[in-house]
Amino acid sequence: FFVTVEGGEGAGKTSAIGAIVQAAADLGGAVVSTREPGGIPIAEKIRELILDRSHTEMDSRTEALLYAAARRQHLTQRVIPALQSGQVVVCDRFIDSSLAYQGHARGLGMAEVLAVNAFAVEGWMPDLTLYMDVRPEVGLARIQADASRELNRLDLEKLEFHRKVREGYLQLLERYPERIVRIDAESDLPVVLEEIRRLVNQKLAG
Ligand code: C5P
Ligand code: MG
Repeated sequence: FFVTVEGGEGAGKTSAIGAIVQAAADLGGAVVSTREPGGIPIAEKIRELILDRSHTEMDSRTEALLYAAARRQHLTQRVIPALQSGQVVVCDRFIDSSLAYQGHARGLGMAEVLAVNAFAVEGWMPDLTLYMDVRPEVGLARIQADASRELNRLDLEKLEFHRKVREGYLQLLERYPERIVRIDAESDLPVVLEEIRRLVNQKLAG
């Protein structure tokens, strides 16, 4: 079973993943938690390259291709073997991030970015995607209040960019209603985590 967690900045993906891992483990299965871009050495290197604050000249298509390359390597090296051995895989970001960020917010086009990613994923799609929905004003205020968090190149984008990211995700939610579930990530954390636990129990056990 392949679960991905999506959302804009400060949506609380990290806490959500903790709750999914806990809920899945409580059901008795083996769980792997990983992230994109990254998760394995080659992809972590690509991540550093993309997120480097000094790389302001990064071309949008280059960026999209790098994300797809990191995704491919991580998928083949980490995700597929775990799924094939019967483990539950929980991944922080996957294809929907590229569609929302590069496809919609950067304006490359969702169809174009989907084409590149279809090549990368060869049909491997999540069974369930949790979209942690938060208005960008709220999410950005959260990450600014978090002193332990190091800001990257993309955190520094303007509010307008983050609005478009959310718009992209909301379009994906409409397009893939049987795969993507919206979580109201503006609710208090205990409420959010309980909602996630309920959902995971329902999907994995029921
Ligand atoms: O998940 P996390 O917030 O750590 O992601 C790292 C950064 O990469 C974020 O700033 C996110 O906006 C950015 N990103 C992106 N396009 C993707 C995936 C992540 O711009 N396809
Ligand atoms: Mg995070």
